Amino acid sequence: QCANVCPVDSITERDESAQVKKAIADPEKIVVVSTSPAVRAALGEEFGMEPGAFVEGKMVALLRALGADYVLDTNFAADLTIVEEASELIRRITEKDRPLPQFTSCCPGWVHFAEIYAPEMLPHLSSAKSPIGMQGATVKTYFAQKMGLDPKQIVHVTLTPCTAKKFEIRREEMHAAADYHGVEGMRDTDQVITTRELARWAKSEGIDWNALEDSAYDSLMGKASGAGVIFGNTGGVMEAALRTAYEYLTGQAAPRELLHLSPLRGYEGVREAQVQIGDLTLQVAVVYGTANARSFLRQMKESGKQYHFVEVMACPGGCIGGGGQPKDLRKNADEIRKSRIAALYRRDEAMTLRTSHENPEILEVYKTFYGKPLSELAEKMLHTTYQDRSELLHRKEEKPVKKWRCTI
Ligand code: SF4
Repeated sequence: QCANVCPVDSITERDESAQVKKAIADPEKIVVVSTSPAVRAALGEEFGMEPGAFVEGKMVALLRALGADYVLDTNFAADLTIVEEASELIRRITEKDRPLPQFTSCCPGWVHFAEIYAPEMLPHLSSAKSPIGMQGATVKTYFAQKMGLDPKQIVHVTLTPCTAKKFEIRREEMHAAADYHGVEGMRDTDQVITTRELARWAKSEGIDWNALEDSAYDSLMGKASGAGVIFGNTGGVMEAALRTAYEYLTGQAAPRELLHLSPLRGYEGVREAQVQIGDLTLQVAVVYGTANARSFLRQMKESGKQYHFVEVMACPGGCIGGGGQPKDLRKNADEIRKSRIAALYRRDEAMTLRTSHENPEILEVYKTFYGKPLSELAEKMLHTTYQDRSELLHRKEEKPVKKWRCTI
């Protein structure tokens, strides 16, 4: 049913684990796996654990047991996305180079929805690539250089809650590393596997989940802040970006209320807040689900209300509710999603590093590779453009469904 209602096919799985196994078996290949924030709050459910069990260490151990050469954290790139996206927001506000409000762009479901159904909004979408987009480009350049690896040998695999990422990594602009190295045909990310695909693979290999001892990420692109962690749930991207924007604009650390932005937390499909940053009063909103996005856009236009920044995620509750996450039809899906959201907020609150721009690995990647946020190299590698695809609505043979509602 889901496959028939989602225009980006974001809730249909096409299992790519066979290609990953093949790469692992090939001695010429170096398999680098990067893991998205929401997977660690849900993978345990596949092995009988309660929703909301935080299983980061076991997840990393599992990937090592399956043969990954390096395990990196896409939360590192979530921090990178925040630094670029917050810098872009400040530039829009101070230099007025692009229109406000700025909309987030890390969800390929939302991006593709805007390209088809709301192309007039494309100048409003942040040009920052998603964390997976940034991770892939950085793995095959910076990481390869620092580790002395041949980027042509690297197979970059992302473990995500998201089936739409299978579409995103194949967008034609996702080959920044190929341009950087002057190598044709290299993609920044080669394969995407979902939480459920990983669990199926592990079970087929007979791996004993309970016996796995926690393992840590590899360094260089394996450290993240609490802001990167909450990227996995609705409202998390906005809260993370505001923490960094506050410090960039005022020169002072984000106050306590910005480390727990209550009006933006919760499970309603649309939430709004006014946030004071120095002399600026920012009007922000958080939306999930494309039906909510559609009505939010309509209301924004009709009311003329001015917003500065809007987060949109396609799935219910954000990525923790992604199409590749475990599903237990015997249990209440909303309660499961709330438990996963709570797990990510608990993790953020338990960390001492809560802001993306203070992540020492982020400081290092700018110091030794990208220079500074929005630098020429950062724009080339970490930013992208979007296409008006509304003609798909008029093409008979490729017509997307008119009513888009996510039913998972
Ligand atoms: Fe993917 Fe859903 Fe997250 Fe969007 S909200 S990035 S479609 S899992």
